[in-house]
Amino acid sequence: MVVHETLLSRLKDKTLVVEAAKVGGKWVRDVSDGARFDVFNPATGVVLASLPALSATDARCAVADAKHAQKAWAKRTGRDRSAVLKCWHQLWIENLDDLALILTCEQGKPLAEARGEVLYGASYLEWFAEEAKRIYGDIIPGHAENLRILVMKQPVGVVGAITPWNFPNAMIARKVAPALAVGCAMVAKPAAETPLSMLALAVLADRAGLPDGLFSVITARSGADFGKEMTSNPDVAKITFTGSTEVGRILMRQGADQIKKLGLELGGNAPFIVFDDADIDAAVDGAMAAKYRNAGQTCVCANRIYVQSVVYETFVEKFSARVASLRVGNGLESGVEIGPLINAGSVAKVREHIADAIDRGGKVIVGSEPSELGPLFVNPTVIRDATSDMKLSREETFGPLAPIFRFETVDEVIALANDTEFGLSGYFYARDMARIFKVAEALEVGMVGVNTGLISTEVAPFGGVKQSGLGREGSRYGADDYLEIKYVCLGGQAA
Ligand code: ADP
Repeated sequence: MVVHETLLSRLKDKTLVVEAAKVGGKWVRDVSDGARFDVFNPATGVVLASLPALSATDARCAVADAKHAQKAWAKRTGRDRSAVLKCWHQLWIENLDDLALILTCEQGKPLAEARGEVLYGASYLEWFAEEAKRIYGDIIPGHAENLRILVMKQPVGVVGAITPWNFPNAMIARKVAPALAVGCAMVAKPAAETPLSMLALAVLADRAGLPDGLFSVITARSGADFGKEMTSNPDVAKITFTGSTEVGRILMRQGADQIKKLGLELGGNAPFIVFDDADIDAAVDGAMAAKYRNAGQTCVCANRIYVQSVVYETFVEKFSARVASLRVGNGLESGVEIGPLINAGSVAKVREHIADAIDRGGKVIVGSEPSELGPLFVNPTVIRDATSDMKLSREETFGPLAPIFRFETVDEVIALANDTEFGLSGYFYARDMARIFKVAEALEVGMVGVNTGLISTEVAPFGGVKQSGLGREGSRYGADDYLEIKYVCLGGQAA
């Protein structure tokens, strides 16, 4: 047991931090070859916990248990499943302080944001607990006088889930809640950087009475073996993945042999557009929220800020003043707004984007000096006079860097915004109604924020177009990802 004092001493319920994986109904503390990996606090570098590094064989055992458990779970009424999920939701809320603390310690985001994420995650559980009772089918008039057609929806079966480190609570919540609600079982693998949040949720699921085998948590150093097992195991009906577009492509390729169903939430390159008729102060607020949440490490973060020429200088001045005032530090300290990045690779990418932008004529107006807080801290940075040939325009930066581009016309900025293989989210600020409809319809993305920088909610369908993904999470559409449609043609009916 190495669970670090900084974490343990602050927890109300110390049993929420487990150094074990959950395979079917069993907590696995050690694996036969003794392989383990450490979880670090990115703000301090201290080791928080040590976890067993499970293999593909362990994942296979979890799938076998899940298959068995799923059959019984699917037979229960929606109301029954709903009751278990509601109980889990209740425990999730009761343990808000501890779940947020665990999240901040392993992920780095400020405690206030971690609390927001835990509540956001819980909202999916509540939503789908309610939806569990409403998985309606259809009756279609037959195509002959003695025929009737019934359409029923059935759970796909066992689902493999792979989640990233940026939202260790909410990303699994968005998957496990609809899956369990409609009668599926889930075998999940958290990112190696942030497995403690998902494990704490599994502890609460046990307490809520979720039957054994329905939710396994496979801890592993890397995702490759788990991904191969999920894509090649015929008992896995579907894989749901949130992470990079590159890994999404790998899973799609690997799943081709078995035509594996896939739900993919991949990368973004969100445009954030400020038109000349916008409320500039509101646009600055929206840009701060869309850019700097989780230190810029979200797939819906504003990656490219486009501002119309007439209002360019005003926006740059107001926005950079706000960015300069952001407080950077350890997320556990009160008042901190920007925590560390997750690892050295993330820091290197942000620095590379800044250096490349400077080489190509961009001017750093906030954040030029390196942070003294530690190797994973990057000061919030604003670059003006950004141009399309810069790396930050084509690649997702995933860090606290805001590039500001200048544009002249509506058609020009629509073309610029859409000039990317990604299509997750887009934002714009404008007041003219005809312009609002034109731009909202023209943006090639799955989600548009108009005069708002925050779009995530359990009541709306989250997902992307183009190479940003497949399927939707949340809302009534979110259940569809875990359901098959079957139609029954009933003959011999009264003519
Ligand atoms: P990031 O660059 O943000 O870490 P990744 O897509 O690499 O994004 O990681 C997201 C999740 O995918 C993590 O849980 C990671 O372990 C997992 N992963 C990484 N590579 C693979 C792979 N080849 N197959 C399956 N999962 C993978």
